[in-house]
Amino acid sequence: MERVCLLGATGSIGSSSLEVLRHNRERYRLVSACAGCNYQKLFEIIKEFNLEAAALYDEEAARQLRALVKEAGLKCEVLSGQEGVCALAGAPHDFTIAAIVGAAGLKPALAALNSGARVGLANKEALVMTGQLFFATAKARQAQVLPIDSEHSAIFQCLTERCQQELGRCDLKAAGVNKILLTGSGGPFRTLPLEELAHVKAAQALCHPTWSMGPKITIDSATMMNKGLEFIEARFLFNARAEDIEIVIHPQSVVHSMVSYQDGAVLAQLGRPDMKTPIARALAYPTRINAAVEPLDFTKLGQLTFFHPDFQRYPCLKLAIEASSAGQGQCVQLNAANECAVQAFLAGRIGYKRISDLCAQVLDKGVPHDFDAHSLEDIFALDAAARRQAQAYLQELA
Ligand code: NAD
Ligand code: MG
Repeated sequence: MERVCLLGATGSIGSSSLEVLRHNRERYRLVSACAGCNYQKLFEIIKEFNLEAAALYDEEAARQLRALVKEAGLKCEVLSGQEGVCALAGAPHDFTIAAIVGAAGLKPALAALNSGARVGLANKEALVMTGQLFFATAKARQAQVLPIDSEHSAIFQCLTERCQQELGRCDLKAAGVNKILLTGSGGPFRTLPLEELAHVKAAQALCHPTWSMGPKITIDSATMMNKGLEFIEARFLFNARAEDIEIVIHPQSVVHSMVSYQDGAVLAQLGRPDMKTPIARALAYPTRINAAVEPLDFTKLGQLTFFHPDFQRYPCLKLAIEASSAGQGQCVQLNAANECAVQAFLAGRIGYKRISDLCAQVLDKGVPHDFDAHSLEDIFALDAAARRQAQAYLQELA
């Protein structure tokens, strides 16, 4: 039995992970889980999986959860606060699914790596913020990282076994790779007349044409900041140069990404747009398990189409590609600014086009000369500064 820990259990990836675990109870036992503040949902998970430990970031919600656990006579330890979440993540497990959203997931993900667990990484922001430090931590602890983001899972599956074993430092050239083709749906505004973009509301942006996901990543998919963060994520995961990766818009989300080789062969991974597949791939690697996903019916697929992205429509994508080459500091700033902008957009405080404006403004502030990409302290200081700058800009707009 493998002992599994689920970080971000009450979210979209959390729910899909629980589904995969339900279908594979003979092999995996979920022993611990954490979330932000949804204590009712976490309580249901504690009961269903008979968890040994749980954690909530929010102290008040944790108090409520402790009361419920006690009342039900369950033996689940309930931790709280960021310390509690990190303690839970850092306890010994065979496999940890890192699915907290945003920068909040970074410390817990690092704690999981430090414990030496195999880590299934959905929380792309953690990698965007730390890149080399993330893999240096994994290497020092001999912790294996397995991508859960669907595109990166697809690329992983299309790469050689050697590359799979050497994530973070693999040699794409030696593996005969010509290019990584990173696909993205283009989101709900792919064909909207450009002049109408300024007026789109959060509710429209939250209607993703092919994927059902948490609110932050759904907005990121509309702006294609998600693809930008994934570009950065792919560079770190596959030790790729910017010119090794090409972004291709593929509205049907059937091809989850591809690897083109020097001999002219292109390998693609296809499947339904269902995160249970990449979760199962990470969990069971190198074997395969039942993920309770319907196979594709090719006779019903219709057309698969592919386009170049238009940076005028997706300025966030351009900012992210530029940040990935500018350096780790710019990636930290971009991520922080984007989190603030998305939150403000979801709250109705700013218009859609201000998301990219705000990110550009924060990036314009520049990164301190003595910023050290290998120092977690520097990374968090820069993250905090970027958030302050973003908030100041939001005040100006108000
Ligand atoms: P979500 O908003 O649905 O869920 C986020 C989870 O994180 C929730 O359980 C929430 O309680 C928890 N959380 C938030 N703040 C926390 C904190 N401070 N401490 C502890 N837990 C906290 O988000 P999601 O869509 O499931 O996405 C999770 C991550 O996976 C994101 O980084 C996203 O980019 C990535 N991802 C998601 C999908 C998808 O299909 N949803 C696909 C690829 C990658
Ligand atoms: Mg993705």
